[in-house]
Order: sequence, then C-alpha cells, then structure tokens
Amino acid sequence: MRVAIAGAGLAGLSCAKYLTDAGHTPIVLERRDVLGGKVAAWQDADGDWYETGLHIFFGAYPNILQLFKELGIEDRLQWKEHTMIFNQPDAPGTYSSFDFPDLPAPLNGIVAILGNNDMLTWPEKIRFGLGLLPAMVQGQKYVEEMDKYSWTEWLQKQNIPLRVEKEVFIAMSKALNFIGPEEISATILLTALNRFLQEKKGSTMAFLDGSPTERLCQPIVDHITERGGEVRLNAPLKEILLNGDGTVRGFLLRGLNGAEDEVLTADLYVSAMPVDPLKVMLPAPWKQMEFFQQLEGLEGVPVINLHLWFDRKLTEIDHLLFSRSPLLSVYADMSNTCRGYANPDRSMLELVLAPAKDWIAKSDEEIVNATLAELEKLFPDHFGGDNPAKLLKYHVVKTPRSVYKATPGRQQHRPSQKTPIANFYLTGDYTMQRYLASMEGAVLSGKLTAQAISEALPVANASNLQTLTRSPATNAATA
Ligand SMILES: Cc1cc2nc3c(=O)[nH]c(=O)nc-3n(C[C@H](O)[C@H](O)[C@H](O)COP(=O)(O)OP(=O)(O)OC[C@H]3O[C@@H](n4cnc5c(N)ncnc54)[C@H](O)[C@@H]3O)c2cc1C
Repeated sequence: MRVAIAGAGLAGLSCAKYLTDAGHTPIVLERRDVLGGKVAAWQDADGDWYETGLHIFFGAYPNILQLFKELGIEDRLQWKEHTMIFNQPDAPGTYSSFDFPDLPAPLNGIVAILGNNDMLTWPEKIRFGLGLLPAMVQGQKYVEEMDKYSWTEWLQKQNIPLRVEKEVFIAMSKALNFIGPEEISATILLTALNRFLQEKKGSTMAFLDGSPTERLCQPIVDHITERGGEVRLNAPLKEILLNGDGTVRGFLLRGLNGAEDEVLTADLYVSAMPVDPLKVMLPAPWKQMEFFQQLEGLEGVPVINLHLWFDRKLTEIDHLLFSRSPLLSVYADMSNTCRGYANPDRSMLELVLAPAKDWIAKSDEEIVNATLAELEKLFPDHFGGDNPAKLLKYHVVKTPRSVYKATPGRQQHRPSQKTPIANFYLTGDYTMQRYLASMEGAVLSGKLTAQAISEALPVANASNLQTLTRSPATNAATA
C-alpha cells in the first residue's frame, strides 16, 4: 500500500520505517529542506553544527533504543555515568549530584536521593519519599489521574515542603516541558519519576555522537529508501483534499520557486506534522468532529536553544547539567559530551533557555547577552578577573511552538493515532502514547501508527500484517 506521510520528524520517519518493514510503500513529504523537525540540525560556514535542541536519550527509552539497534547504529549513543548533576546557585561554580549506585531499582534511586545532602534535608527526603508512595504502588492509573493538578499543587497535596520544589523540581519541570512547576501537569513529573525509579537504568543519559540529522535521521531515511519508500524534502503539504464522503482524496503539495502545486494520491494518508500546523490545516468538515475538536486543547510551547563557542575550556564535565538558573534550563559542554563536536582546547556550550515566552521575540544579541550574564554565575572562575573567557561565535535557534505545553488537563486532548476518517491517521509526540512529548514518544507514536495501519489492512494484504506482528519492534511498542 502507498502511504503518504506529511512531516519528516522522528514520528513521520519512524512511521515510514515500520511501514516499510511491514511491506508498505511510504512517501514522506517534508515542508523544510532539512530532516528531523525538532531534532533538525544545520552546519554553518565553518562546518560547525548547531541544533534545534540539546537532546538527551534516556535508558527508559525502549523504542528509541530498539530503533538504534534495528538500524545498527547503537554505538552512536554515548552513555554517561549514572548521575544527575545540578549547579548550586548559592555557591557559584559548584555542583551537587544524585549518584545512582549499581543496585536494582528502586534501591539505586533511593540511595541516590538519600545520598544527596546538599539540596535536600532528611525530613524533606522522607516527606518526598512518602508523597511518592501512591504513584509507586498504584502505578500509571494514579499518575494519569493526577493530570488535574499542577506539580506545585500536587506537592502541596502530598505535604511536601516548598523547598523541595525550589531545589529540585523547577529544574526538572523546565527540562521536561520548558515550563515551571506551577504550570506543568503532575502527570509529567510523576511519569518521569516512575520510569526513573522503577527501571534500574531508566535515568541513565546518552548523547548522540553528532548531528541528529546526519547520525539518526539519515540512517532511517536510508532504511526507508532501500526498501522502496521515498522521502522528499521541500514538499510542504498545503491542503488535505477530500472526497464527497469526507475521506482523503489526496495531499495538495505547494509548488516551490514558481513550480505548480501538485496533487499526490495514495491509499492512506498520515499527518506527522506537529499539532499546531495540523489544526490550521484541518478541512472544514472535519472541524465539526469531536475527535478533531479535542486538538484545540493542545498548543506548542516556546523554547530557545543556544550554541556558544568559547576561546578556552570552561569545564571538563562530560555530562548534562541542570543550571538551576532562572533564565536557563539544562546545558552541556558538547566539546566533552559528543564525539562529533569534540575539542580538547575549547568549549562549545549548548544551552536550553526556558521558559522562553518572554524571550522568543527578543533579538539574538539580547538573548546571548542575558545568557552570558548567567554564565558568569555558573563559571565565575572563567568570567571574572583580567582575562575573561571570550565568546568566539554563537547560534540561537528559536522554536516558537515546540512540544505541546503539558499543563493540567492536557491528557484528555491527546488523540489516538487512528482517526474517525477511514484513510487518515495521525502520528507525532503529542498523540496518545505513554512517553510524553519526547523523542521516545515520537518514535513510539510512529510505530503505533504503522501498527494501526497494518491492522486495518483488508484480508488480501494479511501477509504484511503478519510481518509487522512478528517483528520484535512491534513487541516493544506494546511494552
Ligand atoms: C529545545 C528542545 C529540546 C528537546 N530535548 C529533548 C530531549 O532531551 N529528549 C527528548 O526525548 N526530547 C527532547 N525534545 C523533544 C523532541 O525533540 C520532540 O518530542 C520530537 O522530536 C518530536 O518529533 P515529532 O516527529 O513528533 O515532531 P516534529 O519533530 O515537530 O516533526 C514534525 C515535522 O513536520 C513538518 N511539517 C510541518 N508542517 C508541514 C507541512 N505543511 N508539510 C510537510 N511537513 C510539515 C515539520 O517541518 C517537521 O519536520 C526537545 C525538543 C526541543 C525543541
């Protein structure tokens, strides 16, 4: 079956990959001239890469890890020590960490939390541990029910001191959804904590060894094209054309550089676009349907990613760092963490600025200057004195609407991959799957969409369905 997929982010590419594995022929249509969507990266005139976002892979990402294995590129993930490192705002230039020993879960997590005396007092640790018990005992059902509370409200409900939020969870909320604990749904933090505490290696982190576009997206594209599929860049979906019965007749693609618009037809159609452009593109008759109306409750959150190249090494730390700065979220010295960007003499910091709503409209210069002021606190030894570190160059990548903003009540707005339209499916990190809006969520959603399509095949094509069901990849999707 020919399946047209609009969007070459991880969800669209994963969907196409698993469709080819099941014997289908996907045609992926990407609006931009670059693969990857929110993991897209570009090379500047000096040959240096800059990315849409600083991306971390977790041990608790089974579908991504399986995808790397299936593509034969597992060695591209650079795993770091099992620890979480936080800057200490009250003692500039120092760090505090949660170190996970080599013990079974949840013991390793408990030891990591109990072993940190810089950030939490013993009474705070005990209150927090007791507060988490319902989530650990009742599992995902409880976690989903907590979507009615913000993380701040949930902490108050569990009698957990406000200082715990300030010390640990402002940083974690910003890292997970680019917003603060007073805005983020308790479901998001509880989902992450549950994975981290229940899986021995759940919170181990890996960096990709280079640009996600080259090192991750391209191998997926190669897999697709070697099996008869197609991936087209500069192919923006302009309109979803309908038949009289409301099903899809074709995708109208906008012609670029004076070329004519083109109608592309297929047996089935998939939107792998983010939820914001999808909402704009919904055909009028679909807008009346409850299934599509639920999407109105989802909207992308702004975020900014910065790359700063310095004239010297600022740190030797080979890991992700939680800045605990009001302006910044997580950051890393990519010259240490990533083989493809390695430099023994100079630092290249990649930093996420969040929440970004008050910054997204500002100029790159204003953003970089504010970030440098924060870096003086994070690296006092390198920015004070007579010979401060010099910024050699920078890139600022703004994403005004990134992953959907996970405020309380959003879970009920996340759609299934199957829609009421017989020949139209959705895929994307915002669709319902158990891994939040993340790379893992995107890859899993793509796999679930491919699975739903294969299940809906008429009997004549049942051999393809068997191929997918037997594939080990499918088993992970239902994990
Ligand atoms: C700064 C930042 C940091 C992040 N850090 C992490 C992290 O550490 N770990 C993690 O797991 N996740 C992280 N994420 C989230 C992760 O990147 C996303 O969840 C994931 O990549 C989303 O994939 P997707 O395929 O669902 O959507 P997208 O990547 O948005 O893909 C959608 C694609 O559709 C295309 N499109 C849009 N309109 C059209 C059209 N009309 N026609 C054709 N194509 C169209 C877009 O160009 C895009 O390529 C981060 C995101 C950002 C922005």
